[in-house]
Amino acid sequence: MHRTTLGDFELTLVSDGTYFLDGGAFFGVVPKTLWSKKVTPDEQNRLDAGLNSLLVRTGDKNVLIETGIGNKLPDRLVQIFKQPAKLLDNLQAAGVAPEDIDIVINTHLHFDHCGWNTIYKNGAAVATFPNAKYFAPEGEWRHGLLQTERDRVSYLSPNYDPLIQSGQMRLIDGNAEIAPGISVEVWPGHTRNMWAVFIRSAGKTACYISDLIPTTWHLDPVWAMAYDLFPLEVLDNRKRYYARAIPEQWLTIFTHDPNIPWAYIERIENRLSFKPPV
Ligand SMILES: [Zn+2]
Repeated sequence: MHRTTLGDFELTLVSDGTYFLDGGAFFGVVPKTLWSKKVTPDEQNRLDAGLNSLLVRTGDKNVLIETGIGNKLPDRLVQIFKQPAKLLDNLQAAGVAPEDIDIVINTHLHFDHCGWNTIYKNGAAVATFPNAKYFAPEGEWRHGLLQTERDRVSYLSPNYDPLIQSGQMRLIDGNAEIAPGISVEVWPGHTRNMWAVFIRSAGKTACYISDLIPTTWHLDPVWAMAYDLFPLEVLDNRKRYYARAIPEQWLTIFTHDPNIPWAYIERIENRLSFKPPV
């Protein structure tokens, strides 16, 4: 279990397990001869990618950032990705029951980021976290509605529409403070409206940068994923991120890194690297 303090807050990483991603899709235009020096794929060119959620205990609220893949994937997608579904077990190990979660934040509405938002009960998708207020970017929901040829497979409405209908999920356009010390900012590139989540307490900052920098393998600004809708914006926004995250020592959370879920990013002799917290 990864746990640390950030000012007055306690941060705990809770994983939904790992899922398969195709190495080519994960590393976009980067040649396999380069990325395979960092990670070795299986015989079908698949990698194990992480599903790292972050639990923030502010003292007042229990905030859960991202909810992994969940347990509702259709069979076709289970064949492709597998269905780890470990988040609730790992929350329990961290001492938290679903009823204890006050706030859930989804950085975007791809299926691998909001799957545990809901579970099926008697055939209907209902809130997994019954006492939580859920938050997501409004533009993400609008994009999901379009069901475009390019990415409709990623937008599965049972993950969010029942919560919107019940009034439990609030869609927000742009940046916002969700709770004292917890705020969201739009960082485009992976999608148009994806949020990064900032956690700030007593002068310290952590950032759940989500799919803008999905793993420590993707630190190089040009190593965008093939999934990214706006790779040129990924490039610019990673640079913009490093310009503050490095000098200000933000603890960065990597949503899909199976080994290094969080670290401080460093630049040593013009090379980007990282140092996990001790
Ligand atoms: Zn993702």
